Amino acid sequence: MFEAISLLAWLAAAGGAPVPAVDPLTQPITTSRSAEWLAPAPPEEIYGNSYLVGFGGMSVALIDTGAGLVLVDGALPQAAPAILANVRALGFDPKDIKFILSTEPHFDHAGGLAALARDTGATVVASARGAEGLRAGKHAKDDPQLAYGGSWPAVTTSMRVMADGEVLRLGKAAITARATPGHTMGSMSWSWQACEGKACKAIVFASSLNAVSADDYRFTSPAGAPFVAGFAQSYRTMDALACDILIAAHPDNAGEGRYNNRPGACRAYAERSRKALARRLAEERAK
Ligand SMILES: [Zn+2]
Repeated sequence: MFEAISLLAWLAAAGGAPVPAVDPLTQPITTSRSAEWLAPAPPEEIYGNSYLVGFGGMSVALIDTGAGLVLVDGALPQAAPAILANVRALGFDPKDIKFILSTEPHFDHAGGLAALARDTGATVVASARGAEGLRAGKHAKDDPQLAYGGSWPAVTTSMRVMADGEVLRLGKAAITARATPGHTMGSMSWSWQACEGKACKAIVFASSLNAVSADDYRFTSPAGAPFVAGFAQSYRTMDALACDILIAAHPDNAGEGRYNNRPGACRAYAERSRKALARRLAEERAK
């Protein structure tokens, strides 16, 4: 019976290659916020061949390097088809996506990477700790959110690990990896120059910098110390970055709108996190 249903589904995929009835890599992960995160949004050019192809509450960026495309983040598993539809709506072919950069190994930003990598043939790029998490498809043992449990489709295709300060070059683009640990130890932000003629702007796609954890976790515990130190390093990095346009992994953390092009946007982003972390540490010490 199962085989008969599968066959019908295969036949129903008219015109294209047969696809399984249930795609294991795009099965929805539903949370109290997933619908808000994945609110449909039209693709939008930000500046100089840099685009947003994600959602109202979840950022996904696209860079046209002139010699292939680069995607930043993959949102949730069920988001992959809509991301690729947005890429096509801009007139691009998803098969031209050569790299998909990852900001953190969590389901809301990385859940769609396995499907996107499979469907485009792109190489997934992450920090060493980030890549470990993407290969596992679940929280690292030291992740403050570990007790939440859960998993997401693991990346099984080709991956490239990049270190802090390393540059990914493709066509006209040079994209620099900026380690921004704290939310996870593998968190990575990505920065590049987008140009229109001779006028260039520095764009930063920033990983989440919020100190979120499962209920009983303490950032003031010995296990939390590397994360607190990581945040401090990340704030210094964000403060020092050239940053004309900030895209935050969760756009609502960057201020209003889908990106923030006000002067000092990256410093303000770091400052909000710095204050929130200080409050969190004070609350823990008061308990
Ligand atoms: Zn996260």
